[in-house]
Amino acid sequence: MFAEIILSKVSRGIDKIFHYSIPRELVADIKIGHQVLVPFGRRTDLGYVVGFVEKAEVKNVKDILSIASEHPVFTKEQVELAKWLADYYCSFFLTALRLVMPPGTSQREGRRPKIQGQRPEAKEVKQTQSPMTPTPEQQAALQAIKQALDQSRPEKYLLYGVTGSGKTEVYLQAVAHALAKGKSAIVLVPEISLTPQLVERFQARFGDHIAVLHSHLTQKQRRDEWQRIATGEAKIILGARSAVFAPVKNLGLIVIDEEFETSYKQDKSPRYHAREVAGFLAGQHQAVVILGSATPSVETFYKAEQGEYQKLVLAKRIDDRPLPPVEVIDMRRQGRFLLSKELREELKTTLAKGEQAILFINRRGFYTFVMCRACGNPIECPDCAISLSYHSDSQQVLCNRCDYRAAVPSTCPRCNSSSIAYFGIGTQRIENEVAQVFPQARILRYDTDSVSKRGSHETFFAAFAEHKADVLIGTQMVTKGLDVANVTLVGVVSADTALQLPDFRSAEHTFQLLTQVAGRAGRHHLPGKVIIQTYTPEHYAIKTATGHDYEAFYAQEIKHRQELSYPPFARLISLLISGPEASKVEKIAADLGQFLRKRLAKQVLGPASAVIPRLRGQWRWQILLKGKDLGLLRQAVQETLAKVVVPQEIRVTVDVEPMGLL
Ligand code: ADP
Ligand code: ZN
Ligand code: ZN
Repeated sequence: MFAEIILSKVSRGIDKIFHYSIPRELVADIKIGHQVLVPFGRRTDLGYVVGFVEKAEVKNVKDILSIASEHPVFTKEQVELAKWLADYYCSFFLTALRLVMPPGTSQREGRRPKIQGQRPEAKEVKQTQSPMTPTPEQQAALQAIKQALDQSRPEKYLLYGVTGSGKTEVYLQAVAHALAKGKSAIVLVPEISLTPQLVERFQARFGDHIAVLHSHLTQKQRRDEWQRIATGEAKIILGARSAVFAPVKNLGLIVIDEEFETSYKQDKSPRYHAREVAGFLAGQHQAVVILGSATPSVETFYKAEQGEYQKLVLAKRIDDRPLPPVEVIDMRRQGRFLLSKELREELKTTLAKGEQAILFINRRGFYTFVMCRACGNPIECPDCAISLSYHSDSQQVLCNRCDYRAAVPSTCPRCNSSSIAYFGIGTQRIENEVAQVFPQARILRYDTDSVSKRGSHETFFAAFAEHKADVLIGTQMVTKGLDVANVTLVGVVSADTALQLPDFRSAEHTFQLLTQVAGRAGRHHLPGKVIIQTYTPEHYAIKTATGHDYEAFYAQEIKHRQELSYPPFARLISLLISGPEASKVEKIAADLGQFLRKRLAKQVLGPASAVIPRLRGQWRWQILLKGKDLGLLRQAVQETLAKVVVPQEIRVTVDVEPMGLL
């Protein structure tokens, strides 16, 4: 018998399985997942055992030297998962394998990590807060889910219901059922620090037998949680996307809340989507998947329409509470104020009643930029070809990508004119305007600038929930999870900034954002109101969001996707070629394009200069592959990367099923 070994070094040349013989004294001990020392060339290298075979590929097989870890750091099933990841997302096998290893394993390579040691089996999980009596709709959903759990059927459900329709209660009772069957559950949320209320509800229901994997854990804490999971002590795992790799015993259920969120896609290799990983795991472990949302991604809803996912609908809010009315303000007929007359009036009424308001701006594709009036050029980052944003706090211009900072130039770097002007809307400008009109109002500004300290999301939420501020001004982040009874007004200052982006999902993102923000108003006994300001009131994403009408939006959007052959009607792979020298990058992009075209013909779009042509000093070109058969596209990419010689300083980034094309 021979061992299949992957070396612990990331490189295209050696990212493959090597065969080694097993010396007699190791035969009894060696297992899949063990770190081992092996001779490689003239050196001794560290590797991982990923399998065993009867026959070796080569004649002169060398012996494994020794076992280097006390316990295996992954299982056979996890090897299969890593193989699938590497293949599906065109990444290195080793990089994929690292995702399933205990946190910090790569830093400890060669040392003796104590993982999966014997711990006493956990006590039965005690329910501390009793479940609610389900509504008929919840009952129907739960019946289907429980049956699939009972039969260990790898069924995938779309739990489709507006905010407040009782989805979380369904998750809780589904998890309880999985537990009662002796199974574990993984519950994924877009970002754990933005969903404190959901975490609290799980803790209240299931006590301390939950492992919460959030990004603020130290490596030591992460390893401890990992171990609690691996030993079976923690049977419910709550976390962001990477929690999908938690080494649970007896996986029975995976819940993905707000499955449309872009944070479920990993932004470095392997660029996996947690939803796809969940799908693979479901097949591997006969587990059930629940995707929950009020505004599912177009791809997911399409799959539900096609019957690939089972659709479970919660059409009504608990208590039949109405969704707040939405008023659209056409900003083309407004003056120079950022806040329309209507929004100012509503704000006045809200403040007079002692209630609270949220003002939201969409930061996606939006910059407060500085421009030269004489030559019309925006002032750009010297290293990235994007406009710098202006921050009145520090009187500086700032690059949102690379953090370049400088004082506002007094003259234009191109034409030397001194007529520099400021454009765009930022949270700061809104704050100034609100402060001017309502000097008494207590304002809380919430954006990436003001929330840079660790864990201060919670502080912000708490301060606003305790009514320490009257008006909350913020970006994307205010759309998530915030549930404050006293909020009766939500104003969307600029609804259409994202619609301008060259991305086929921009309408979808806009609709989802608007619907989410609108859901923050009037969540309890006080009635709420939503005002959306826009320059494109006729756009279907805005119109349908006004009626909280997902299906009307979907009906229009799916037509566009079909006409333009975008997902779900085609599959995409994006290749980004970047490097310090413009001409070299262009040349390699052209070579790759030519090679790909031989195999894929018209399914290759580009190469073209990327939407952001230069970033952090790197020139960027893009190739987009678009076709019906993802396997075919993937195979062409793998062949191309194996054949075309790419110089060291040039990077080729492969993104299978990309979330954005920027
Ligand atoms: P969603 O996750 O869809 O936003 P939740 O599960 O949070 O909805 O439910 C909204 C509110 O209704 C919560 O306050 C929850 O406690 C309550 N709720 C949910 N299900 C029931 C039920 N069956 N009976 C009574 N109240 C419920
Ligand atoms: Zn100029
Ligand atoms: Zn920059």
